[in-house]
Amino acid sequence: MAFSRHPTDYLGKEYRRLVSENLNWQLRVLESASEPICVVDGKEVLMLCANNYLNLATHPKVVEAMIKTSENYGAGAGSDRSISGNMVVHEELDRRLAEFKNAPASLTFQTGFMANEGVIPQLGGRGDLFISDELNHGSIIDGVRLCHADRAIFEHKDAEDLNRVMEEAEKHDPPYKHIWIFTDGVFSMDGDLAPLTEIAKIAKEHGAGVYVDDAHGEGVLGKGGRGIVSHFSLGRDEVHVEMGTFSKAFGVVGGHITGGEDLRNFAYNTSRSWLLSGAVPPGVAAACTAAIDVLETEPQHVEKVLHNRNHMLDGLNDAGFDTGNTETPIIPVMCGKSKTSKDLAEYLWNDGIFVLPIFYPMVAREKARIRVQLCTKHTTDQLNRALESFKEGGRKLRII
Ligand code: PMP
Repeated sequence: MAFSRHPTDYLGKEYRRLVSENLNWQLRVLESASEPICVVDGKEVLMLCANNYLNLATHPKVVEAMIKTSENYGAGAGSDRSISGNMVVHEELDRRLAEFKNAPASLTFQTGFMANEGVIPQLGGRGDLFISDELNHGSIIDGVRLCHADRAIFEHKDAEDLNRVMEEAEKHDPPYKHIWIFTDGVFSMDGDLAPLTEIAKIAKEHGAGVYVDDAHGEGVLGKGGRGIVSHFSLGRDEVHVEMGTFSKAFGVVGGHITGGEDLRNFAYNTSRSWLLSGAVPPGVAAACTAAIDVLETEPQHVEKVLHNRNHMLDGLNDAGFDTGNTETPIIPVMCGKSKTSKDLAEYLWNDGIFVLPIFYPMVAREKARIRVQLCTKHTTDQLNRALESFKEGGRKLRII
């Protein structure tokens, strides 16, 4: 029988469509360490789009821990943690993180994405309900999709709408056995915060679990950078799973969940990404532990990143930019169309400033933006230079 099927020609077509609609991703190459002044694609630029909020990626104690531990324990763990790759350094990291978070237990993963994708689908099944904020991170969305539980969405940060969803859910017959609410703590494209106190209150009234992804809150929010649960002074009986990552403020790579002992035991016995994938190298685990040490002993990093963030936000707002509702070192500079965000990023790039345009499908079509991210080591001079460039580019493109 004749057919016109081709195994791969749609890949190129799809890519060309993305290019023609200005929706393609342009990869840049970082040729130096991730520092405020770095070399990208052969050019020296001011970095304003790293998740390395506290500059711990290059902190001497963190780097030294990685080198020394690699020398002693090797470059790799040799196996999944579930088999023979569970080294003392992994156990130490789990323990130190739980201590840092004032929680009974933590379980660390290879990445934050793998933590969400591994744990979330195990929390429910048929007869259960998973409720998500409409702007949750893709790794939560994927985790929820891997589960047979019913799904519902509430409007972004809208506790009233969450209440509506809950009331609706209570009419379900038979009653849902388990209900979980999933939310980012800090929303990664907007830098705004989940109303976690209200969410926890609603959850309590309905016997629901609360799962917060604090990837961008750790190291920035809460006492000494302990994250959003600390920021809102919530208890472990109010937020049942605090998920996070070592790839942002901690400056390394890895993910975790933090909560009760039962959560840890349940998670490492059921999460497929944990059970069926290699352990992070011992040097990585030790570097993450060293990053926790730094957070505990050098509070100045958290203070400085918040100072820098306030300086940049005030400058952008004074210039007339719309920066949404950010409360963190993530500042969205709203541009409207994806083309405008790309043009502004290009303008800044030509002026020696590296920022990222964020556009559909990462955000809604008409809500393209530049996402600015501040770090501890930015100087006021560097930020003022960036502000001048933003102003000129913004005027040229009629954004302000
Ligand atoms: N959750 C959120 C909100 C994130 O922004 C990210 C990283 N982009 C992740 C989870 C995944 O973390 P990781 O980089 O450790 O995989």
